[in-house]
Amino acid sequence: MSLAADHSRLARVVVTAPIDKPLDYAVPEDLQERLRIGSRVRVPLGRRQAVGFVVELPETSGQKLKPVAELLDSAPLFTARHAEFYRRAAAYYAYPVGEAFRTALPAGLSGKGQAPPVLSETLYRPTGQAPNLRGERQKQIFDFVCAAGEASLAELKALLPAPYQALQRLVALGALQVQEVERLRDPFAREAVLPHVNLALNTAQSAALQSLEHTLMTGAFATFLLHGVTGSGKTEVYLRAAAACLDRGRQVLVLVPEIALTPQLVGRFRSWFQERAVRLAVLHSGLSDGERFDAWRSIARGDVEVVIGARSAVFAPLPEPGLIIVDEEHDASYKQSEGFRYNARDLAQLRGQMEGATVLLGSATPALTSYQRSRAGQVHALDLPERIADRPLPAVELVDLSKTGLETLLSKPLQEAITETLAAGEQALLLLNRRGYAPFLLCHDCGATCRCPNCAITLTFSRTQNSLRCHYCDFRLPPPEVCAGCGGARMMPEGAGTERLEEELRSVFPEARIARMDRDTTTRKGAHARLLDRVATGDIDILTGTQMIAKGHDFPRVTLVGVLNADGALNLPDFRSAERVFSLLTQMAGRAGRGVLPGRVLIQTYDPENTTLQQVARHAYFEFAEVELDQRELLGYPPFGYLVNLVLAGNDLQRTGAAADLLAERLMAKNGSVEVLGPAPCLLAKLRGKNRFQILLKSTQRQPLRALLDHLPELRKQLAAGITLTIDVDPLDMV
Ligand SMILES: [Zn+2]
Ligand SMILES: [Zn+2]
Repeated sequence: MSLAADHSRLARVVVTAPIDKPLDYAVPEDLQERLRIGSRVRVPLGRRQAVGFVVELPETSGQKLKPVAELLDSAPLFTARHAEFYRRAAAYYAYPVGEAFRTALPAGLSGKGQAPPVLSETLYRPTGQAPNLRGERQKQIFDFVCAAGEASLAELKALLPAPYQALQRLVALGALQVQEVERLRDPFAREAVLPHVNLALNTAQSAALQSLEHTLMTGAFATFLLHGVTGSGKTEVYLRAAAACLDRGRQVLVLVPEIALTPQLVGRFRSWFQERAVRLAVLHSGLSDGERFDAWRSIARGDVEVVIGARSAVFAPLPEPGLIIVDEEHDASYKQSEGFRYNARDLAQLRGQMEGATVLLGSATPALTSYQRSRAGQVHALDLPERIADRPLPAVELVDLSKTGLETLLSKPLQEAITETLAAGEQALLLLNRRGYAPFLLCHDCGATCRCPNCAITLTFSRTQNSLRCHYCDFRLPPPEVCAGCGGARMMPEGAGTERLEEELRSVFPEARIARMDRDTTTRKGAHARLLDRVATGDIDILTGTQMIAKGHDFPRVTLVGVLNADGALNLPDFRSAERVFSLLTQMAGRAGRGVLPGRVLIQTYDPENTTLQQVARHAYFEFAEVELDQRELLGYPPFGYLVNLVLAGNDLQRTGAAADLLAERLMAKNGSVEVLGPAPCLLAKLRGKNRFQILLKSTQRQPLRALLDHLPELRKQLAAGITLTIDVDPLDMV
């Protein structure tokens, strides 16, 4: 009598391949008991085999299926609810489900299917019996293990050489028991944790916390937008809300834009929770595959209470998250810019909804999408309108470059401000959002520039590396002596990047300690942290850099912030350019005057009448948001409309263009209300050797756009050979 045979199950498997649906497999007899949802398996796929993940185990209706070939890990990697979340995320972004799982799960699990090895160690524990021990070595080991409660073989080897015989004897006598246990790789084992400084909350912070605690108690899904000006103490609210969530027995997920750029926030979480003996995992790009795999499994087992990570941590398998914090929710790095183009901020809300969790979005400059949702009452607004300890926001001045003239990069007022800052022993941050020495070399005889042969952009000149380089495809060229166009010898750098600013600062302020932070100076592991440390310890007087210096840093002795050119970014052909500039400059200004000393901000511009810059100078977020949202509404742009950007790329210009035309026609034939704009050449019309065209789908309603998206897998199959189609749902960048 075999009940199992009647109720045998099949395995629905998401295979890591570009396939849009899970596939069904038979479960062999010996795996019927062991296969679970979340199990990683090897399955046949055509003539080869592929790695996949079991997402459902429905009852079989007796159809003939190929069997699962192998179960790869002993424990499942996620639960049915996680699987449902990953599937919904893949569907929302119109991305093949298997590839989405591959992105969500730790690296190294797909491919050949060899997970990083699970490490183990041998542990000895006292049994409670104390037999008469004869040998001196046996006594020594026994006493050591009893005193410690347990000891690993590695520790005992450190205690005395070659302990094996004595240990065997102790086990045989029944004095010790031995066990093989899994050992987790701990990337923090050797890192010091700073003591936590307990700060009292002000009225606004307390009120925000109270609302959060109230919702955490109910255990129902809700989203909050914590809009706190720079220096208003958002982190203190996060920490206490997290503690309240842990008290309810649920876990906390904290998303930050980039771990390397936010060591202070991570440090504060670690010290606060370490003091409370809370187990915390930090997921970041510096982890090895093994460390990542270990962290994932301990999170899945519920051994970790707080997880901090960058965007991909939104997929971390916490069994029952009660609070999901998205710090600096406006930050563009939450959106993955290639492959699975998800936005972790938006997925955090989907996940919160599925888990019945509280989602807390925090920012000094909320994304207009988030602000609109709070205006419409879809998310709860929490405001921290003042800096902590009644510190004022910094005074912001716009320096009119057309009046002051500019032979050098630094205007006179900015130079004087730096001189004063240095004289007072304080620090300055200078933003120039362009790396390299100069954006291009220009022939002063014929106007020719050096362009990347693979991408439609000029090559950036680096003086320190004496090379011309493409920031997209990394093409490099030594700077030419003569112009390739006219043979003239006057190829000169035009415009300025951080390298040139650094050079100028060194010549104007030879005594100052100057450092530069951009992608070129921070390629090595830990380079960010070292630079930020040096600013914190007062080892640097002036830090220059690209937008990475604007992110969340809290340096009490920074009293001056300078912005070298505010104009370039304002004139980009993108409906979000004003939002981006407002956010970047406000965040940058917010680095000044966070300690007891007041701060000052100078923004150099040729257009001091510009409305956005004026609003930055007045710290007028609400005014900016209202004006900008009115315009968006008029044009039907997000948050009042929905966009999907389709990019077609191919080697041949004509064929790619023709494929784009055909796709646009087919899309128009399929729909009624969605606007199909284009095709038009992308802003970056050529990238890494591929010609690129875009079609923008725009709609005031989500539903018709979703319906149109459903046709894309089929339309993709009809594309000419060699043409690829990228689908970007809710695009942030359209280049
Ligand atoms: Zn020339
Ligand atoms: Zn290139």
